[in-house]
Amino acid sequence: MLLRHTPIEIKERSALTINPAKTCQPIGAMYAALGIHGCLPHSHGSQGCCAYHRSALTRHYKEPISAGTSSFTEGSSVFGGQANLVSAIETMFTVYEPDVIAVHTTCLSETIGDDLVQIRRKAEDEGKIPPGKHVILANTPSYVGSHVTGFSNMVVGMLKGFAASSGKKNGKINIIPGFVEPSDMTEIKRLCSEIGVPTIMFPDTSGVVNAPMTGEFQMYPKGGVTVEELIASGDAKGTLALGEWASAEGARFLDATFKVPCKILDLPIGLEATDRFVDALRTIAGVSVPDSVNLQRGQLVDVIADYEQYFHGKKVALAGDPDQLISLVEFLVALGMHPVHIVTGTPGTRFETRIKELTKDSPYPVNVKAAGDMFHLHQWIKNEPVDLLIGNTYLKYVARDEDIPFIRHGFPIYDRMGHSYFPSVGYTGALRLIEKILGVLFDRADRDATETKFELVF
Ligand code: SF4
Repeated sequence: MLLRHTPIEIKERSALTINPAKTCQPIGAMYAALGIHGCLPHSHGSQGCCAYHRSALTRHYKEPISAGTSSFTEGSSVFGGQANLVSAIETMFTVYEPDVIAVHTTCLSETIGDDLVQIRRKAEDEGKIPPGKHVILANTPSYVGSHVTGFSNMVVGMLKGFAASSGKKNGKINIIPGFVEPSDMTEIKRLCSEIGVPTIMFPDTSGVVNAPMTGEFQMYPKGGVTVEELIASGDAKGTLALGEWASAEGARFLDATFKVPCKILDLPIGLEATDRFVDALRTIAGVSVPDSVNLQRGQLVDVIADYEQYFHGKKVALAGDPDQLISLVEFLVALGMHPVHIVTGTPGTRFETRIKELTKDSPYPVNVKAAGDMFHLHQWIKNEPVDLLIGNTYLKYVARDEDIPFIRHGFPIYDRMGHSYFPSVGYTGALRLIEKILGVLFDRADRDATETKFELVF
């Protein structure tokens, strides 16, 4: 009973978050920056912030995450961090030789009001940025938004830093995959390739934060979108942005600046959202959906039909990121389940509207909150118990206290493996989600069964 003090009675709170359902903006910015090949992220703030950002990503991906910090002291906290950042840029290019340094701010440097554009200009003027090397920028004050906002801001930062128009279209489609796992990015690229759509994906952390063990330390693993590809994004035929919160701003920037038309789709999690993604790709490519993709879809539909009775009527509580939750809720409803408590730490009233639309036929009242926290979710569960809990590792305390089957999904996951290697997007990803859901539901049924009801076959 680690959360034994969570009361069942719900009181309105306006100035207190308990067990937030989010992390801080720079973590998302750092993750996005890692999706550029040869990029070294840099945290413009105190060492403590950078240590937290790196450790959160290292614990989730079980990979060494390198990043610089401006190492603010009392002096820089009062007078600004310009000297520290200029010095850091010089040192990082000299010692670690990245192609790109991706600077994001922190609460402290934002509060001071450091002007990153001006500081970069000063570094350029002083010759601290070697020829052919780049510094890109993102403002990521963590008292606004969440890690998803930070991811989105860094996506815009990389486009502002690199995207250009040569006046001639290159026939490619930009894919902004959203704050998803490297395994998801691989699966999205595979689907595009199967359907025959040439793409530029950014960011692309596949092959970076799930790189193979080779026996040699590689400061910059092979993966990541290249600078050349980012430059070419301004000449693309169009952009597919997967997820309103993490990807839409980047797509809109390309549309407004270089007239690259964009379409905002939901993350392709579950049957229907993947159908929409595949249909968009099929339309772009002007082809029929290939047999290989139809086969996977058919297998998914078959499994849903085979196991529908075990999903039917089960109540679910979820916490996570808005783009993920919207598609997940749609999928759970399609399986015959009832998402009844849904919370995201990321703000945005459109989230509540979308979830209400998706659950409008639910026989139960649905609690949904943006900019909410896990304490509130726990209270909802105490008032209306659920059969399944879905969310990041921090929800394990609620799962244990309330004795609820729990699957880990989202960020961060500190206590299970698999997310870096097995996708949850696409038809294969939906199969994996089903496997995980059924696994915990069947384990619970086995655990609670009497000897006479202990079934061999499900
Ligand atoms: S001070 Fe701000 S940027 Fe730094 S770790 Fe805390 S929330 Fe993140």
